[in-house]
Amino acid sequence: MKLILLGAPGAGKGTQAEIISETYKIPTISTGNIIRAALKAETDMGLKAKAYIEKGELVPDEVVIGIIKDRLAEDDCKNGFILDGFPRTIPQAEALDTMGIVIDAALSIEVEDSEIVKRMSGRRVCEKCGASYHTLYKKPIKDGICNSCGGKLVIRKDDEPETVLNRLNVYHSQTEPLKDYYKAQSKLLLVEGQEDVKDTTALVLKTLSEI
Ligand code: AMP
Repeated sequence: MKLILLGAPGAGKGTQAEIISETYKIPTISTGNIIRAALKAETDMGLKAKAYIEKGELVPDEVVIGIIKDRLAEDDCKNGFILDGFPRTIPQAEALDTMGIVIDAALSIEVEDSEIVKRMSGRRVCEKCGASYHTLYKKPIKDGICNSCGGKLVIRKDDEPETVLNRLNVYHSQTEPLKDYYKAQSKLLLVEGQEDVKDTTALVLKTLSEI
């Protein structure tokens, strides 16, 4: 399966991607995670992206398109993949089409802005391995400590309230138009994000089983 996950930042794409990835045995490709890793490693690309990511702005199209091109050429993508956080603009979607990538569906997780703001204030990530947690919805076993690697859980700089509002504006103006783009290709699937993650997962898996 070749799947695009759409939805506002904080709508739960990452969590759903993990579950779909396990269920369908396909890798998740998160441009956000790739960029954050580059930032941490202080590569050229990471340094270029730093100012954008910290303000909640989008990294320029040519940078992320290059990342995706390289990543999709890797062996583990042969049987399918989940794109989490890409495309985020119409030119990025057009670039996928130009690469000859035919997706099965673009699934959008729909969550109200007010709920997004509430959720993002509780989001925590492991500063060592990047695993994500939530103070209400996905608590670590030990407070403030990553279950997988024992790293410290911190608030991502771009999850701070002011940046969250900017990321939501960016989402509505630049990314949400992708819903119409994929609707026109009869690829758009909508799932209402539920209060309980497990309920969202059940809806997501049911929707995917029907394509
Ligand atoms: P995410 O973890 O997907 O919310 O991504 C975090 C940040 O990485 C975004 O706010 C952008 O600055 C950058 N980013 C990730 N994916 C993309 C993309 N497809 N296009 C542009 N910027 C991106």
